[in-house]
Amino acid sequence: MSDRIRALREAARRIRLHALNMGEVQGQGYIAQALGVADILAVVYSDQLRHRPEDPEWPERDRFLLSIGHYAIALYAALAEAGVLDVEELETYGSDGSRLPMSGMASYTPGMEISGGSLGHGLGVATGMAIGLRHQRNPARVFNLLSDGELDEGSTWEAALAATHHGLDNLTAIVDVNALQADGPTAGVLRTEPVADKWRAFGWHALRVDGNDVAALVAALDELREHRGSPSVLVCDTQVGRGVPFLEAREKAHFMRVEEHEWQLAREQLEEVGA
Ligand SMILES: [Mg+2]
Repeated sequence: MSDRIRALREAARRIRLHALNMGEVQGQGYIAQALGVADILAVVYSDQLRHRPEDPEWPERDRFLLSIGHYAIALYAALAEAGVLDVEELETYGSDGSRLPMSGMASYTPGMEISGGSLGHGLGVATGMAIGLRHQRNPARVFNLLSDGELDEGSTWEAALAATHHGLDNLTAIVDVNALQADGPTAGVLRTEPVADKWRAFGWHALRVDGNDVAALVAALDELREHRGSPSVLVCDTQVGRGVPFLEAREKAHFMRVEEHEWQLAREQLEEVGA
C-alpha cells in the first residue's frame, strides 16, 4: 500500500471517530451514513479538493456541495480533519448556539457551501455554480455529494440534463449508493438501478467503484479530473455503519439510536477494524 493510500485510510478512520464522538453528544443521528461516506470524504478533502483551510471563502477554492443536509455530521468530521474546523468545536454539535447544527446550514458553518435538506436540489445548485465559475474564468471545480435517495427526485435529472447541455467538465457528482433511504431499502422505494447507465444515457462520464475502497476512489477521481467535454459522476457503493461491525449489522440504520454504553464499544471496534 502506498503512503498516499495509507494516509488517506488513516484520515478516514479519524473522520469516523469524529462522527462517533459527535453522535455521542446527541445520542442518535445519521451515524451509519457518516461511517459509510468517511472514505469518500477523506479522499475528497485530503487528496482531491483545492482549498485553503484557513480561508474557506477563497474565490478559487473547489466547491464541495452537500445536498444531503442530514449528512452534516459526516462533513463536520471531514472539515475538522481538513483543518477548516477545530476538533474541539465538534463537541458543540447540535447544541444551542453551535455553528454545527444537525442539518447542514451554509450561513452557520465555515466550509458548508449550501444548506441541504430539501433533497434533490444540490445538483441544480452545483450546475448553476459550475456555469457561473466558467463565465468568470475561475478554474475551480464543483463537487456535489448526493444520495441514492436523491435519484428519486426529478430535479436531479433536470440538472443532469442541463449540465450535459452546457458541457460542464468542471462539475463532478458523487452518488452515495448505500441502497437505503428514509422509507426503506432504495430498491423497494423506487428502483434506480442500473445507476451508472442512467447517468451515461444523460451524457455524463460515469465510473462506479466500491466507495469504501480508498485506493479505488483515488484512482477513479484522478481519472475524472482529466476528463473533458462533459460532466462526470462517480457512483460509489457504500456500506452503512462501515468500520463498526455491530452498527453495520443494525437494522433501522437510517436514523440510528445508539445506547449510551455503546459509543465506547463503537470506538473500540473502529480501532480494531481500522475500517
Ligand atoms: Mg441512501
